Amino acid sequence: MKGLMQDWPLLVHRILDHARDWHGAQEIVSRTVEGPIHRYTYRDLDRRARKLSDAVVKRLGIKLGDVVGTIAWNGYRHMETWYAIMGQGAVVHTLNPRLFPEQLVYIINHAEDRWIFTDLTFVPILEGIQDKLPNIKGYVIMTDTGHMPDTSLKNAICYEDLLEEGDEGLQWPQFDENTACGMCYTSGTTGNPKGVLYSHRSNVLHAMATCAGDALGLRSTDTIMPVVPMFHANAWSLTFSAPMAGAKIVMPGAKMDGASVYELLETEKVSATAAVPTIWLMLLQYLEQNPDLKLPHLEQVVIGGSACPEAMMRSFIENYESDVIHAWGMTEMSPLGTLGTRKGGLEGMDNGTWWQTKLKQGRPAFTIEMKITDDNGNALPHDGETFGRLKVRGPGIAKAYLKGDGAENFDNEGWFDTGDVSTIDEHGYMQITDRAKDVIKSGGEWISSIDIENFALGCPGVAEAAVIGIAHPKWDERPLLVIVKKPGEDVTKQQVLGSLEGKIVKWWMPDDVAFVDEIPHTATGKISKLTLRQQFEDYRLPTA
Ligand code: AMP
Repeated sequence: MKGLMQDWPLLVHRILDHARDWHGAQEIVSRTVEGPIHRYTYRDLDRRARKLSDAVVKRLGIKLGDVVGTIAWNGYRHMETWYAIMGQGAVVHTLNPRLFPEQLVYIINHAEDRWIFTDLTFVPILEGIQDKLPNIKGYVIMTDTGHMPDTSLKNAICYEDLLEEGDEGLQWPQFDENTACGMCYTSGTTGNPKGVLYSHRSNVLHAMATCAGDALGLRSTDTIMPVVPMFHANAWSLTFSAPMAGAKIVMPGAKMDGASVYELLETEKVSATAAVPTIWLMLLQYLEQNPDLKLPHLEQVVIGGSACPEAMMRSFIENYESDVIHAWGMTEMSPLGTLGTRKGGLEGMDNGTWWQTKLKQGRPAFTIEMKITDDNGNALPHDGETFGRLKVRGPGIAKAYLKGDGAENFDNEGWFDTGDVSTIDEHGYMQITDRAKDVIKSGGEWISSIDIENFALGCPGVAEAAVIGIAHPKWDERPLLVIVKKPGEDVTKQQVLGSLEGKIVKWWMPDDVAFVDEIPHTATGKISKLTLRQQFEDYRLPTA
């Protein structure tokens, strides 16, 4: 027997309808690439997204199933483009401009993008690779006539001119909620990047789960600034979940340095924000250099994408009275998986134990099934100590990569192997110990590089830390700690190793410390252990 409820496909334009109808006057504030701050409302966003949507059909010939690339910062035009393209049942493929040009060429061709919408910033990159992009029909430059560059890009169209051709009376077409709507490639540590294809249904469900109180707890009284880029896994859903909640949005554009991020936090009275630790490191350094500055409006900082160091969490909470939610997720998971909010029943937990729990990557939001297994797929206990391969399942999680790539990551029971190694404790809080590929195996036992890095970051004078395994004749691998010092500060090998004493077991103690000017990062701002391992390929440990 079927239920007697209405058939209301979960299409992302419903989010925009809701924001327009019930939060129409709520603001969207963007720092534009051209310079000035731009302000308008959800009502304006809805009107312009419809106009653009009509225009992309009439002028660009975009239809259901077409893939359209965007290479753009977080801003109102990028948001309009998302809703305009997705609303036609076409797919928005967000391109990460930090990738190498050859990777962009591979991704654009592999995804079969038809048109590319670009910010002014990225016109030179596209000009350099356009000869290798035979399927691209043309480029829409996201600016107005006055700022149109002189460009060699073929069929270059000015965004504002294109938009003017559309009719704001457009009615969104109806189609199945499982229709593809967004695409994002994961950089992957080996092989070519792989495409993740979101559906309308997965994006709407994920946004709803994200808004929940024990997840991000978004409200219409919030001012939310996604510093995490829209090209990094849907800006962690905020471009869907913030309008769903009716919250004010602040888009930081191209400027993500400490001073620029601080300026918007302050002038726009941002209450909640989200990004990877690298961004917060820059903000906190800026605040340290300007001791008079505080964060009076900021209630909540979501930190994820890489492990949040304890010193960072403490600084936000203890120095600035802004709470931190540590979150874990993956491009393949839409992306949020776990969040470190306090669970009912743990109110009485002593402060020290709560801090240890809060520093973990969090517990699953609704729609996430999660388990850890050994290498044979046997489930492991949730005792907070046993490490295992972390596997997930749910309606916002990929069941395959585009064109069947990486099929070995999915099993026949529908579990996706995250490639992360973690523990889960008795309360359900998950803690990542490593990427499976980054785990250090010493004498057959695993050493968690993330733990050592976090403790090393607590040592005064240390700006960034990374631990990699180096080949060792006796133990197979031993840890090497690589350190970047804070500008103008000095710290010695003995001080760094001394700061780890008593915090990690003796046999985890790094065999050596190497000081470098810079640690390599991936396009999404994570430490690139792969590149670091290559840099230290010929390195011999003193103990070897
Ligand atoms: P991406 O798809 O680029 O967001 O990368 C996902 C991967 O980033 C995960 O599989 C983890 O290895 C890592 N990651 C994400 N969030 C965290 C976190 N809070 N702590 C540690 N690693 C994380």
